[in-house]
Amino acid sequence: MVKQLTVISGKGGTGKTTIAASFAALAENAVIADCDVDAADMHLILHPDIFEIHDFYGLKIANINRNMCNGCGICATSCRFGAIGRDCIIDVYKCEGCSVCEYVCPESAIRMVEKKAGEYYCSYTRFGPMVHAKLGIGEEASGKLVSNVRRRATELALERGMDMIVIDGPPGTGCTVIAAITGTDLVLVVTEPTISGIHDLERVVQVAQHFRIPVAVCINKCDINKELSQDICNYCENRGLNVVGLLPYDKSPVSAMMDGKTVVEYSGDAFSLQIKAMWSEVSNLLLK
Ligand code: SF4
Ligand code: SF4
Repeated sequence: MVKQLTVISGKGGTGKTTIAASFAALAENAVIADCDVDAADMHLILHPDIFEIHDFYGLKIANINRNMCNGCGICATSCRFGAIGRDCIIDVYKCEGCSVCEYVCPESAIRMVEKKAGEYYCSYTRFGPMVHAKLGIGEEASGKLVSNVRRRATELALERGMDMIVIDGPPGTGCTVIAAITGTDLVLVVTEPTISGIHDLERVVQVAQHFRIPVAVCINKCDINKELSQDICNYCENRGLNVVGLLPYDKSPVSAMMDGKTVVEYSGDAFSLQIKAMWSEVSNLLLK
């Protein structure tokens, strides 16, 4: 059975990708999935070599057949998103795909059509196969794209007899996060000891627990505010959550990123050893 771990955070910039990329390096037989599709950056560390490209289609958008249009303008006045101009030309960046114009058009001149919104890829990396994605300019992050990345990652794991998927999830609590954690075996929430960090942690834990997914917590930069770190530990204890990592502030994640390496490759210092210890704890929780 393929075990799935998703690393998430309440907001961006907490060190989530640093940790997920290190786990990708430490896992011995895993597929890596970059599901932070709105701000994908794992490729900067893992340097994927693409061997498979898939088109991604998001929402359908309206398309007017000019030969059938009588210029009545009903579609333009009916579109509450202001996506159709007086000249009956559709602004593809404003169209929300609601289909109202298709419904009201007296000439049946409007059809909803697929629009390519991005691509997702399967790649080789030095740590194993990776599935990742790129959204088109102006496209919104999409739970559907995250689901596609996860589905292909699962197929690859099964095809190649791999026993784990390490997922770098998106930040926040939106639909992409739900798509990244649903059905996984463990969620690791990376947080920081700040007031907003605690608030974000609570929100993201609520989402994960709503879907009955076990949660572990890592406090990154735990030494920048020891009091708040203790508050987070108390919160976790009260909620029955495992705190698997207390990482101090360290410059090595930035240096490693600039060098295009994971932290555990970059150095064997104390910070790197702590990430390895955290991986050991996370692996044990996954195997439970
Ligand atoms: S409602 Fe139909 S016929 Fe009227 S302007 Fe729009 S596309 Fe043309
Ligand atoms: S599909 Fe909806 S949002 Fe798009 S142009 Fe038609 S009415 Fe406007």
